[in-house]
Amino acid sequence: MKILVLNCGSSSIKYQLFDIASGGVLAKGIVEKIGLKGSFLKNERFDGDKVKLEGEILDHQSGIEYLLGLLISEKRGVIKSLTEIGAVGHRLVHGGETFQGSCYLDEVTIKGVEDCSDLAPLHNPANLKGIYAMKNLLPEVPQVGVFDTSFHQTMPDYSFMYALPYSLYKKYGIRRYGFHGTSHSYVSKRACEILNVPYDKMRIITCHLGNGASITAIKNGKSVDTSMGLTPVEGLIMGTRSGDVDAGALTLIMEKEEIDYSSLNTLLNKHSGMLGISGISSDMREVETAAAEGDERAILSLKMYQYRVKKYIGSYAAAMGGVDIIVFTGGIGENSPDDREKICENLEFMGIAFDKKANEGIRGKETVISTGDSKVKVMIVPTNEEWVIASETRDIVEQMNKKQ
Ligand code: AMP
Repeated sequence: MKILVLNCGSSSIKYQLFDIASGGVLAKGIVEKIGLKGSFLKNERFDGDKVKLEGEILDHQSGIEYLLGLLISEKRGVIKSLTEIGAVGHRLVHGGETFQGSCYLDEVTIKGVEDCSDLAPLHNPANLKGIYAMKNLLPEVPQVGVFDTSFHQTMPDYSFMYALPYSLYKKYGIRRYGFHGTSHSYVSKRACEILNVPYDKMRIITCHLGNGASITAIKNGKSVDTSMGLTPVEGLIMGTRSGDVDAGALTLIMEKEEIDYSSLNTLLNKHSGMLGISGISSDMREVETAAAEGDERAILSLKMYQYRVKKYIGSYAAAMGGVDIIVFTGGIGENSPDDREKICENLEFMGIAFDKKANEGIRGKETVISTGDSKVKVMIVPTNEEWVIASETRDIVEQMNKKQ
């Protein structure tokens, strides 16, 4: 079976076509600048063939039509007919409290996703555009939704509630939900497979450090706390997002700068984080280069970044009564030996014996970076969210077929 995985944003569609039997990616790419000037599709085939096609792509449906056309094209395609696509898996950002796991997308569940749009007004409507488009274009092909939030639905109430008036939780669902669930779930399970230890008996801290970043405490196979909250702004310092800030500082900024809700949102999401502090870039590589050249704000931003992750590791170890495994993933977690080393510095008191040699120079490779006798195992596990979405989609479609 071939499964198409779609990740639809407001003006872009990322996609991968998997051959489930082999686990291979037949084609992957992105449609960008949908509805804007200069829209294009970039595709990479399994054999390395790359192409960038420019064209007027007015909406998500025409973007998907464009990419489907490419998948079956004689010259650059990878399948003969669209009937080879057995299912479509969608990355969906917010499932609220409704979705505890992935689901088959029918009229009822699509309505459920629509109802969660208030919680993620920038993301869910864009995700839904992909679902509607596929319904129109390939109505016979089953669609499955895989949520960023659902893995964290096991958090206990004392961990997901904000100490705000309880009525706000009841009225609007204001609580912590967490994101990056597919990644945290995948890398934690994979770490246990590699170490050959039982997933349901471990205390694991997963650090997903990418442009967006979050950290999760997983006890006995269940997420018990995570750093992102109602929105992906809470928690760690990110490329352009602030992470934790005193809410009192925000109300003061609104007053002093005379800005409204939407400007504050832009400030927190687009102008803060590594970019806001360093004034150089949201890209960790550029910040690290500037820090190596002695730029003081770049150095400060790196110290703040690493300190925040370390603080969360300590608090999650306390929350779980200890920790057995720490996993690094995401662009920074997988590729930055220096950040991993600084984050794990001085954590010997927790039973972490970091192996600097094993860590050195490792990029994007499953590796244990603690010493053989370290009580806590520290690991790098590259994430693979698209594959998780594809395999969940396969499982759900197979279950549906069995029922029929
Ligand atoms: P992601 O969102 O997971 O793709 O991660 C993107 C982030 O990973 C960016 O901040 C990149 O600068 C960072 N990154 C990628 N490669 C490296 C590297 N070799 N060293 C440090 N950061 C890296």
